[in-house]
Amino acid sequence: MTQTADVIVIGAGMAGASAAAEMTRGAKVVVLESEPHPGYHSTGRSAAIFIQSYGNAAVRQLNRASRPLLEAHPFDPEGAGVLSPRGILTLAGADETAHLDALLAENPGVEEIPPDEAVEMVPILRRAAIERAAFEADALDIDVDRLHQLYLRHLKQAGGSLVCNAGVTGLTRDGGVWRAETRAGVFEAPLVVNAAGAWADLTAAMAGVEPLGLRPLRRSAAILPAPPGHAVERWPLAGNAAETYYFKPEAGKLMVSPADETPVDPHDAWPDDMDLAEGLDRFARAVDYEVTRVERTWAGLRTFAPDRALVIGFDPTAEGFFWLAGQGGYGIQTAPGAARLAAGLLLEETAPTGIDPAPLSPARFRD
Ligand SMILES: Cc1cc2nc3c(=O)[nH]c(=O)nc-3n(C[C@H](O)[C@H](O)[C@H](O)COP(=O)(O)OP(=O)(O)OC[C@H]3O[C@@H](n4cnc5c(N)ncnc54)[C@H](O)[C@@H]3O)c2cc1C
Repeated sequence: MTQTADVIVIGAGMAGASAAAEMTRGAKVVVLESEPHPGYHSTGRSAAIFIQSYGNAAVRQLNRASRPLLEAHPFDPEGAGVLSPRGILTLAGADETAHLDALLAENPGVEEIPPDEAVEMVPILRRAAIERAAFEADALDIDVDRLHQLYLRHLKQAGGSLVCNAGVTGLTRDGGVWRAETRAGVFEAPLVVNAAGAWADLTAAMAGVEPLGLRPLRRSAAILPAPPGHAVERWPLAGNAAETYYFKPEAGKLMVSPADETPVDPHDAWPDDMDLAEGLDRFARAVDYEVTRVERTWAGLRTFAPDRALVIGFDPTAEGFFWLAGQGGYGIQTAPGAARLAAGLLLEETAPTGIDPAPLSPARFRD
């Protein structure tokens, strides 16, 4: 049996879920997800941080638009937010001071602090390895699961639907209607939103739409036990200025990432042992804490457009085909703003969102 809707959203990660929920105010929306559960891929594997200054100018306007919605979420019954304090400490060894200068020059919210103060904040840091340090107070933890659930719950309450185990295997357009084939049935709608994360270019190709050159980059992470005698929960995220490792508290333990960016094909990502070992070695040289046990490891894909800005908008070469892709390393923190922009464009609303769509539009790759 064929089911019909106004909009089909492909992918139920943070991007698809948030845009679908926002669109329910003006459209009948169905979200199709390959996996048995939404959020299985990148959305469930992030470091869960909001950094106001993260990304280029096109991304930063989404950070600005998203922040108030993360602080007081419109879909929470009490208007509660999903942010909590964290902070980011950046450490520069003798050969990294140029990186630190660049960070300070580009981000007015980042302040240089004495290295001793950095060690007070995170007492396992090896003082001798720190030449200079900087702190950004305005970086926050995001409760990613709650944010995702707020969107999925709103989608259902507002009459939309989520169909899992429904990977789209065929996407064709006929008579002004997109037809998506899945093993859960056939779905038709005049508009389709490509929120397929690392698979967004493959999804476009399936629809006969030229891919954009999106690149999935793998990033790995490990959970270590907390260093004995330390209550880590209030520590900031700490990492080096050259961005070759970072660590942060995670449920009473430490999450460490090599900050790797290894190009891969879209897949269910797993960590590369060598990437992780090298990252853990860089971490171990920065701290007085012997890593004797790794409790858990994982990897996820951060998928970037060639210019590292998100891609949000109708493809000028394919009627009714909308991109919501290229979320890179900021897809959680930008989701509320990106979803509002996407819904506004899809519903043809004229109310200003405060976001300039031009630097985000797929048209920038079509000239
Ligand atoms: C280690 C790591 C740390 C990160 N840290 C942060 C951070 O601190 N802050 C931040 O904001 N961001 C962070 N990110 C980035 C963030 O996780 C991503 O940008 C975001 O999750 C992307 O969401 P998405 O919905 O586009 O992709 P996904 O969550 O991957 O969702 C895409 C969905 O599409 C589905 N799909 C694909 N093809 C099809 C098909 N044909 N049919 C149906 N369904 C399909 C997939 O199954 C998947 O569920 C991090 C990422 C990683 C890996």
